[in-house]
Amino acid sequence: MSENLYDLLSGGFPADRSAPCFLLTGGGEVSYGALEQAAAEIAGRFIAEGVKPGDRIAMQVEKSIEAVMIYLATLKAGAVFLPLNSAYTPSEVEYFINDAEPRLFIQDAQAFAAGSRGAPPLEKAVARTADDLASIIYTSGTTGRSKGAMLSHGNLSANAKALHRAWGFSSSDVLLHALPIFHVHGLFVAMHCAFLSGCPMVWLPKFVDEDVIDGLRRSTVMMGVPTFYTRLLANDAFTREAASNMRLFISGSAPLLPGTFADFEARTGKRILERYGMSEAVIITSNPLEGDRIAGSVGYPLPGVDLRIGGGQETGVIEIRGPSMFGGYWRMPEKTAEEFTKDGYFITGDVGRQDPDGRVWISGRAKDLIISGGYNVYPKEIELVLDAMPGVVESAVIGLPHPDFGEGVAAIVIGAGEESAMIAACREQLAAFKTPKRIVFVKDLPRNAMGKVQKALLRTEYTNLFKG
Ligand code: AMP
Repeated sequence: MSENLYDLLSGGFPADRSAPCFLLTGGGEVSYGALEQAAAEIAGRFIAEGVKPGDRIAMQVEKSIEAVMIYLATLKAGAVFLPLNSAYTPSEVEYFINDAEPRLFIQDAQAFAAGSRGAPPLEKAVARTADDLASIIYTSGTTGRSKGAMLSHGNLSANAKALHRAWGFSSSDVLLHALPIFHVHGLFVAMHCAFLSGCPMVWLPKFVDEDVIDGLRRSTVMMGVPTFYTRLLANDAFTREAASNMRLFISGSAPLLPGTFADFEARTGKRILERYGMSEAVIITSNPLEGDRIAGSVGYPLPGVDLRIGGGQETGVIEIRGPSMFGGYWRMPEKTAEEFTKDGYFITGDVGRQDPDGRVWISGRAKDLIISGGYNVYPKEIELVLDAMPGVVESAVIGLPHPDFGEGVAAIVIGAGEESAMIAACREQLAAFKTPKRIVFVKDLPRNAMGKVQKALLRTEYTNLFKG
């Protein structure tokens, strides 16, 4: 029996294919039937052009419905989908193309979809096993070479089913989709939940506050990165009433500040459900749909996920194993071997701890760990203290070269305040070695497209802070 992900996803499409899949701003809609037909025609064109199972199809385009059609067509044709961030420059793209050697590279989704119209449709998805490759997702790493995480049909099917169940999706849901679709969050996590339940998506090309607030009135679930939530809260038109139709707000891809969680609950009466994932394993843990959603915790491992803390201490690097775990990095067997333990756990690089009942807390990336005067400093602990201070919107704590301590603790803070008074206030709550030696006030922090603060860029920018 084929285990092509396409069959699982299309199996969730509504029986009445005239039902909407995409609800557009301004009132238009595109049906599930239209999506299915276009995917079949594009897949037919792929086959006619000689695309073979396992061939890569790369695409660098702006978000569009045609891009989704091409994604589904790629699965259906048994090829491997390789989405590229639309912000990548030509020289960055060149690296991915040389590395992945795609059969096709699509840069205009609309033209490609239009040019496939009338091609003999591929009626039946090409047979694939669970282990066959479905997609390669290049990690957004800012240092070293970007690595292509290889996700199989089985990996993505398992995660889609687990999330659909965990978050209680049904055909009566309407998903607000404002995420990019070159990343696992918008591409797999969000869309697969919609497809499996055959529900419509309020389809927004990007996050624009007014469009999102408007869209929430006709939606029931939204998935977002933390910056979506801070941007909504900064808009006065985002009221309790504007969110009243919503049953679920989900956040991930970067840490949700406890302050955002609290402000959101105060404004809307709803508790954001935070979950944790990565390109290499899609979603790993989630706060519960029923039960306590706790600010600052990413919840419990999904069913079937084995999670443990490496290193034998209470806090350490999170290691995971499970059905959605990727098969390795594309053409990097040594790198792959380095990042797995002997007993098959993936070493995530995220530092965290786990309560006896299984609940997981993340305290940052291992590479962001600061070693000052021989002591380990976990930035998150200091960030939580700073974020609770008046005048602080958000903070990023980093280690910078220091003549005495090797690394010195520095805080880059969005907000305003008096540096020495704030350092003294930190010292009341933190040991001296953890207390920032300098605080720099800024208007904003550098972030990538998914809202992740780019600490490597901060370390470069402030590298001379302790050098006199
Ligand atoms: P990516 O592969 O680009 O999706 O990045 C994955 C990384 O994002 C993880 O390894 C974490 O460091 C981070 N991440 C994702 N979700 C969360 C979360 N809820 N809290 C903290 N970090 C997160």
